[in-house]
Amino acid sequence: MSKKNLLIMDDDQDFGEYIKAIAEANDYNVFYLADSSSFIEHLHNHKPDLIILDLEIPNVDGVQLLRLLKDENCSCPIAITSALDDKIVLSAQRLGLLHGLDMLPTLQKPIQVQDLDSLLKKIGKTCEVTPKQLSRAIAEKKLIVYYQPKVSLQNGQLVGAEALVRWQKEDGSFIMPDSFIPLAEECGLIKKLTLLVLEKSLQECASYYSKKENFLTSVNLSAKLLTDLQLPNELEEFTKQYQVDPANICLEITETAAMSQPLQAIDILTRFRMKKFIVSVDDFGTGFSSLALLHRIPFNELKIDKKFIKNIAEQKDLITTVQEMITLGKNYGYKITAEGVETKEDLLTLRNLRCDIGQGYYLGRPMPIQQFKTWEENILNHEWRTTLL
Ligand code: C2E
Ligand code: CA
Ligand code: CA
Repeated sequence: MSKKNLLIMDDDQDFGEYIKAIAEANDYNVFYLADSSSFIEHLHNHKPDLIILDLEIPNVDGVQLLRLLKDENCSCPIAITSALDDKIVLSAQRLGLLHGLDMLPTLQKPIQVQDLDSLLKKIGKTCEVTPKQLSRAIAEKKLIVYYQPKVSLQNGQLVGAEALVRWQKEDGSFIMPDSFIPLAEECGLIKKLTLLVLEKSLQECASYYSKKENFLTSVNLSAKLLTDLQLPNELEEFTKQYQVDPANICLEITETAAMSQPLQAIDILTRFRMKKFIVSVDDFGTGFSSLALLHRIPFNELKIDKKFIKNIAEQKDLITTVQEMITLGKNYGYKITAEGVETKEDLLTLRNLRCDIGQGYYLGRPMPIQQFKTWEENILNHEWRTTLL
């Protein structure tokens, strides 16, 4: 495999050297720049696989560089690194997302070696698979669906499951969705993939659990599918085939997808609602949309992004933000789900904030259907259950 290229833009030389050493140990060619004068030239000449960008650089700052990267139609993943206040860094990262750039999670200085290491290892993984392999895996139904429990924070009941796709290779190893969903979207395979995930979810999960009252099986819908006007009819046909009421199926659409094509989103999602499907705003909080705008689209549920939920118990700022999302969301009539609940403390904080539903590793990891059923049979013995009751 050829080496990957890393472009570092940071005026702190010691920091640059530190990153360089770790990246070289991970088999990267490293191009380090202490000022931005030749940044664009390097971008063209070295076609980086990853850009690590400091916000505070003399003359042209990091925010201005994000604008330049947008003008260059840059598709390279970008990680912002900074010692500035969290809020400023997060705001710059969101700005990058709004520019349509491939923004990675931010790297707060001082950077931990293991965080950087795992970031460097992740880069370029999408290239591991080819469209042909993916197309074959879909045709041969080699994709597997895992189910992650959704739990009522008020009474500890199981209220649903999110279907999350995985691809199991011949050697038994798994490829995670972030490594092949973008490829499926790029090469026109996302519809087939979604229909396969829906079919498996209906067959394995929804047809079994929808006999219980109020159980929702959630399936992710890619932004690319919001232009497909046939979709509501096709999904309805599938539910008929498996004798599942669409009212037991929830379709998750990311906030940015819904807001970037609001007209199409209103059209398609209204028709889904007319057919009784439940629709949910996924990754809420990662875009800039206000609830007043989102409310034009007939959503039933808001899923607060895990970025706001992880370690919430320890962060006053996050508690205030999430409290506001929950109060406003409820005023608009949404059910509120928090994803990324990883600890007991976070769970209790969310319950106290009167969040309706929780999803996350502390409650239950995504798992194959058999394991999910065993998890449910043992629901009374889980630690989180005692925490809630
Ligand atoms: P998502 O829809 O936001 O799904 C939640 C992701 O967060 C899942 O990652 C899940 O495993 C992970 N997660 C759950 N609980 C926790 C937690 O407590 N902490 C942390 N750190 N993470 C948690 P996964 O399965 O890798 O999926 C990643 C993304 O891939 C999904 O994000 C979704 O956007 C996409 N995806 C997965 N399956 C499908 C699919 O069938 N169709 C489409 N279009 N996209 C899918
Ligand atoms: Ca989701
Ligand atoms: Ca999400």
